[in-house]
Amino acid sequence: MKYVLIGAGPAGVRAAETLRKEDPTGEITLVGGEPGEPYARMAIPYVLNRSIDETGALQRKTELHYDHQRIRYLNRKALKVHAREDGGTVDLDDGTVLDYDRLLVATGSSPSLPPIPGTDLPGVVTCWTLEDARAIAEKLKPGNRVVMVGAGFVAGVCMKSLVGTGVKLSVIAGRAGQILRTMMAPAGSSMMQRWLEERGVDVITKGRTERIEPGPRLVMDTQVIEADLIILATGVKPNVSFLEGTGARIDQGVVVDHFMRTTVPHVYAAGDVAQGRDFSTGEWVVHALQPTATEHGRIAALNMAGKHMPYRGSLSMNVLDIGGLISHTFGQWQGVEGGEMVEEVDEKNFLYTRLCFKNDRMVGAITIGNCNHVGAIRGLIQTRRHLGEWKEKLMHNPHKVMAAFVDLGQHKAVPETA
Ligand SMILES: Cc1cc2nc3c(=O)[nH]c(=O)nc-3n(C[C@H](O)[C@H](O)[C@H](O)COP(=O)(O)OP(=O)(O)OC[C@H]3O[C@@H](n4cnc5c(N)ncnc54)[C@H](O)[C@@H]3O)c2cc1C
Repeated sequence: MKYVLIGAGPAGVRAAETLRKEDPTGEITLVGGEPGEPYARMAIPYVLNRSIDETGALQRKTELHYDHQRIRYLNRKALKVHAREDGGTVDLDDGTVLDYDRLLVATGSSPSLPPIPGTDLPGVVTCWTLEDARAIAEKLKPGNRVVMVGAGFVAGVCMKSLVGTGVKLSVIAGRAGQILRTMMAPAGSSMMQRWLEERGVDVITKGRTERIEPGPRLVMDTQVIEADLIILATGVKPNVSFLEGTGARIDQGVVVDHFMRTTVPHVYAAGDVAQGRDFSTGEWVVHALQPTATEHGRIAALNMAGKHMPYRGSLSMNVLDIGGLISHTFGQWQGVEGGEMVEEVDEKNFLYTRLCFKNDRMVGAITIGNCNHVGAIRGLIQTRRHLGEWKEKLMHNPHKVMAAFVDLGQHKAVPETA
């Protein structure tokens, strides 16, 4: 059996290793579109503030790991997939044509640049690749002025490496008017904003970014900011152009079924590029998170190797450390229709807890500053436990969540479909 995996991020690498275990004689080719050995983007914030070197970002650190696994690793870009009923071929950018019986698309996504002039000027970067990390690291000198355009998850994870380096950091929240809007309730966002401001970060929640001029200089309708570096973190788009003409269904990402199969015969998808099942809602979404990517990769590979393994869905969970203030966001933290929510805010001590319920089950949560309960919260959400009388107790005092978890732990977990 010939397996081709396009993309050597966490999804592709986990899939390749799983295939090797499941099919000891299969031919496995892993195609990664960036120079060097496969690395994890999650390590980029640590590379850019130099708390690890680039080898620390590699996904597998044992020398010749891929050779030992008999995984052929090619540093090339896939340009086009030609799919047939019984398999197909992939054209690479050096003219190589790879035959496949089973294909995995694990190409992740790329930053989508804001539609303004000047995004290609010197001193303007994204925060996505090791190359970006090198460019940013060079500019992290005390007194330098850094502007982060965008205030979502990737901007958030990079901020922890920028705060405390002595750079003057401005963060442009843009039209959202709120930082971390996709993972944080307004009360939590404003607490995190205040935390950043107390550490010298200029958080700009008003005004529209119009263009970037040489310098670089960020021109807004409200002000002009001179900078040494402008980092664009304004969203992403899935890497799918090579699938054009195959009939693959693309929505937010490549749409897959319960077995990570795309709509094209023998073609699977996994990771940030795939629109897979959400554990909490049962809907099909892109969860751009490393644990989701590796699990997608594993399940896709099992199915490619002939196992019939459904994917139960991933729990949306973001952990963020912005310069020492740590937040956790789980599941349906926005709340659900007909559900209930309790929120506790301790502004003075930067502590925030929000629990969301549907009937007597916890379906989502946010914590800021208090990490002690996150294991219990995650456990209660993932096992879909009936809380019984604990639900009311938690509505009155959300801090009792560990007590609830311990007490309820003696009872049996509820199956997913219940
Ligand atoms: C700065 C940063 C920090 C992050 N921090 C966290 C975190 O703390 N926690 C967390 O859970 N997640 C984090 N993430 C998200 C996490 O990195 C992604 O969810 C994860 O990398 C997805 O893995 P993937 O394998 O699907 O895609 P990717 O890791 O994006 O890998 C895609 C691979 O496909 C290759 N590729 C793309 N197009 C082609 C092509 N045409 N031909 C060949 N190869 C191609 C790329 O070169 C790459 O090898 C972070 C992301 C960034 C950018």
